[in-house]
Amino acid sequence: MSFTMHGIGVSGGIAIGRAHLLSHTRLEAAHYAVPQHELAEESARFDAAIETVRSELGALRAEIPPNAPAEFEAFINLHLMILNDSTLSKAPHGIIETEKCNAEWALKIQTDALLAQFDEIEDSYLRERRADVIQVSERIMKALAGHPGHVPRPAADSAHSAILVAHDLSPADVVQFKHHQFASFLTDLGGATSHTAVVARSLNIPSIVALHHARQLIREDELLIVDGTQGVVVVDPDPMVLGEYELRQQQWGIERNRLKRLKHTRPATLDGVEVELHANIELPEDIAEVKEYGATGIGLFRSEFLYLNRDDLPDEDEQFEAYRNVAQEMDGMPVTIRTYDLGADKEENGAARSAANPALGLRAIRLCLTEPHRFKIQLRAMLRASHYGNVRILIPMLMNAGEISQTLHLIAQVKRELDAEGIPYDPGIKVGGMIEIPAAALALGLFTRKLDFLSIGTNDLIQYTLAVDRTDDTVSHLYDPLHPAVLKLIVHIIRTAGRAKTPVALCGEMAGDASLTRLLLALGLRQYSMHPSHLLEVKQQILKSSLREARAYVQRMLRTEDPVRLRAMLGRLNA
Ligand code: PEP
Ligand code: MG
Repeated sequence: MSFTMHGIGVSGGIAIGRAHLLSHTRLEAAHYAVPQHELAEESARFDAAIETVRSELGALRAEIPPNAPAEFEAFINLHLMILNDSTLSKAPHGIIETEKCNAEWALKIQTDALLAQFDEIEDSYLRERRADVIQVSERIMKALAGHPGHVPRPAADSAHSAILVAHDLSPADVVQFKHHQFASFLTDLGGATSHTAVVARSLNIPSIVALHHARQLIREDELLIVDGTQGVVVVDPDPMVLGEYELRQQQWGIERNRLKRLKHTRPATLDGVEVELHANIELPEDIAEVKEYGATGIGLFRSEFLYLNRDDLPDEDEQFEAYRNVAQEMDGMPVTIRTYDLGADKEENGAARSAANPALGLRAIRLCLTEPHRFKIQLRAMLRASHYGNVRILIPMLMNAGEISQTLHLIAQVKRELDAEGIPYDPGIKVGGMIEIPAAALALGLFTRKLDFLSIGTNDLIQYTLAVDRTDDTVSHLYDPLHPAVLKLIVHIIRTAGRAKTPVALCGEMAGDASLTRLLLALGLRQYSMHPSHLLEVKQQILKSSLREARAYVQRMLRTEDPVRLRAMLGRLNA
């Protein structure tokens, strides 16, 4: 039966393909029957996986670096305890026997049952151990599969491309898709600027979040149309609808190709005002796309993605090579590397931290400053890479003067150490800060006085200004970049930074939304940083804009507080 679902489109375009469902617990579990005479063997396979994970955890514990945080060992011990508990290591045997099923399915059933029990627990400490159970289960699942990583591969022989349908995906999951050929993905949870959506956008495939019930209503292998621009999924379309969307898909492709002609055009308005268009990247390999779309710098390298999907930490040399490669590839153009913004929705494997309000908790620079040893490893790698190109350091989530001075102090310390070792770096390396907390925006002087440049992180700035969790689909309708308070803060930051002669860029998702390009231009923005695939659309918008006209109209928009009227005015501004 054909039906339609609506969510938030995070990346434009149309995909047509077959549904591939991801199981509820993020654990990909195939389900197949096992004949009676092979059940003992299946149980033995499960035992072998438990043994593999036991040795993995044992090896991890034996190799804890002396400088690792104290909770690291406690966390491994906890995982060993969960692994050794009979509810996980023995109960699946019973399920294999009674259900006559494979070990993965037995593990999945048992894990889901355990998680359901956790949901009922009132004690918040115990409830938080839910994440640990999932992680241990995932390890066993990987061991059963005989390889690391839990993102499934689409079937190579599918006539239509595969569309992944999941209840939820972490940013770490999505970043793995860079290596897989999914045509699209759909999730029940998530908001337009959740990191999951941000990474999805970088994959440049039409995708939708906040569908609420997609995982329940869509069946494996069902034919789907995904319209990422409108946020619409058509399930089991009839032939006429399918034909119409195939046509639209072709038109979209033609339009994208046409935009490629703008790759080498300098971005300037009709009245000659020049604008810089930089790119956001997650991994060094994204550079290929940066070049494809003609970005003239990296405005945001989210370095924390180097820390995800792995059980160890990237050491100084590994990071140095990643940063140096990007700096060299960009050949003198600015490369703005953000120090690791871990925490909240970007957790490392096995991170033992969890807080009631992770977005307000120990994340980004707050986390870095609690672990100066690890932070200095990254700073050393960045400084060493600065010798090979135009590297700039960007600090996320700064909020007060103390954080700035501590960070600058650590950078100075690392410079002295490199001097003593005779290791070259750029002594004039620029250090900037992300303005993504309203307090930082309102007390901007603290930042302009001490930093070389600023970058407005509107994804978080909107979340914190409006008190709307950017990852929560239940409040995503309240997440509004055009809220007067948000616009006032952006104007304030651009004007105040301008008076202080501190360069300011904008690197949140607003920068890549072509419907906001003209508005931001009129608000004084001259440096945009976005996913490379949005760059040409934004450039086209700039080339068609007259700053003088836009400015006058936007002054009227800023006086408008009625959201419906404001939207209508935005439409007229872009007409
Ligand atoms: C932002 O907050 O706008 C930003 C660019 O950083 P992130 O999306 O990684 O939090
Ligand atoms: Mg941010």
